[in-house]
Amino acid sequence: MPKRIPSIPPGGRFRAPGRGGRGRQPGGSGLGPGDFCVCPRCKTKIPHKRGVPCYTEVCPECGSKMTRVR
Ligand SMILES: [Zn+2]
Repeated sequence: MPKRIPSIPPGGRFRAPGRGGRGRQPGGSGLGPGDFCVCPRCKTKIPHKRGVPCYTEVCPECGSKMTRVR
């Protein structure tokens, strides 16, 4: 596939995407660091462990099953 060179409009700078505007959303897809499990009962948050589903975690405060939070 040939490399496409973006055409620059005359008298204007090419607008680089990704700068300014909206902030990036952290953690696009899949599991990663920074995920949390939350207790639906008392809202306690614990760091999500990789490879361990949240529903297998138990709330340290009230003993409820944790759920995933995004
Ligand atoms: Zn709880």
